[in-house]
Amino acid sequence: MDNNEKLYDVCIVGAGFSGLVLAIKLARAGLLVCLAELNRVVGRRILSTGNGRCNFTNNRMGEEYYYSQHDLSFIEDKHLDLISFLRELGIIERDFDGYYYPITNQAKTVRDALENEINALGIDVFLDNRVTDISKNDVFTVTTHRNVLKAKKVCVSSGGLSAATLGSSKFGYKMATKFKMKVTKLAPALVGVVSTDICLKDLAGVRALGMVSYQNASCEGEIQFNKDGISGYPVMCISRYIGFDELDKKLSNISIDFIYFMTDEELKDELKNRFKHNENATILAALNGLSNEKVIQTVVSYARIYGDTVVSKLDDEDMDNLVYYFKHFSISLEGTKGFDNSQVTAGGVDLDGIELDTMESKNCKGLYFTGEVLDVDGICGGYNLTWAYLSASKAAKAIIKEV
Ligand SMILES: Cc1cc2nc3c(=O)[nH]c(=O)nc-3n(C[C@H](O)[C@H](O)[C@H](O)COP(=O)(O)OP(=O)(O)OC[C@H]3O[C@@H](n4cnc5c(N)ncnc54)[C@H](O)[C@@H]3O)c2cc1C
Repeated sequence: MDNNEKLYDVCIVGAGFSGLVLAIKLARAGLLVCLAELNRVVGRRILSTGNGRCNFTNNRMGEEYYYSQHDLSFIEDKHLDLISFLRELGIIERDFDGYYYPITNQAKTVRDALENEINALGIDVFLDNRVTDISKNDVFTVTTHRNVLKAKKVCVSSGGLSAATLGSSKFGYKMATKFKMKVTKLAPALVGVVSTDICLKDLAGVRALGMVSYQNASCEGEIQFNKDGISGYPVMCISRYIGFDELDKKLSNISIDFIYFMTDEELKDELKNRFKHNENATILAALNGLSNEKVIQTVVSYARIYGDTVVSKLDDEDMDNLVYYFKHFSISLEGTKGFDNSQVTAGGVDLDGIELDTMESKNCKGLYFTGEVLDVDGICGGYNLTWAYLSASKAAKAIIKEV
């Protein structure tokens, strides 16, 4: 084990998006900074973001896009700030209906830009260094399995438990506990869900629009049905609730509204109209265009109507059943696809223990937390990288002011 001679102003644990942003902001202000990272490269997770395209922010910003046990009114809109930060690194943004990507459409561009700036600023990066402990005397000692690093301040930017293959660890939570801070319950979020529901035999392979609801949460968008479960944007966005209920062993069913753009009454009127104009058509022909073809077939069979039934033979009860299954299609769940398949961790270091202007621990002066390790998770759409940036910016501002 090497004993590094330097006394750093700040040692950052984790060279993910948050740690890299923080390191750059601090070094630009003239601070002596080091990064300790367990992977052999910096920013490995960034490469997988946005399906390899890195959806780094969104122009719809605000606390309503984030979840936490804590009040989130402190969340500021930093999307323009993040865009100009990346611009300075040579990243030109592409606005795709409010979702921002690099114009190259390659997440690698973003990772490489951050790495280039880290190198240009001469920041010491200790790769392949798993940090095992942080202790505090006059200064902080950060112990990795290869090095002992000394610093006046330490920031834990070690991320959550998601996608272990990209580098994740419980380290941040362990340190929070060590310094007598609370960690809230942790659950996988932005993840597909597992189901053995019989309907998936028919629906596997289908992509259909719908509003997915679980308890009080709902989200609309394209749902993907697979043999072993469901995924897609709306499922991912509400999956954190399913994750927590799975932990508490109180899972309930998911409900899908395939015709979310009409009320029950409007759908009933629509069906009546269609049936009036197609009296001799089969039910499947009369419903054509209302939703995905396989969804229509499944709903019709759930309503206990044969697909070749002629519309004129349908009664009020059939109509009510059709409306019900189109708008309240229930699917049983086994749980989520777990942390390894999730994009983000819901829960984390409790914000009650953090000064929210500075990201400093209330219990340990000089110890900061940023990014996913904290109890904040955003929905799909660039919100989690923006949170990693926002929290790093707050920590950077406070540290620069103090040092
Ligand atoms: C497949 C996938 C797609 C995603 N797509 C998007 C997207 O398009 N937009 C979006 O906003 N968000 C997306 N996210 C979420 C986003 O990537 C994360 O929320 C964000 O990267 C968190 O940044 P962070 O710096 O806090 O943590 P991380 O990026 O996880 O960085 C933490 C770093 O700490 C290191 N580390 C952990 N423990 C230790 C230790 N003990 N010692 C040393 N180093 C350690 C890790 O190796 C890692 O490099 C996606 C996530 C995944 C998995």
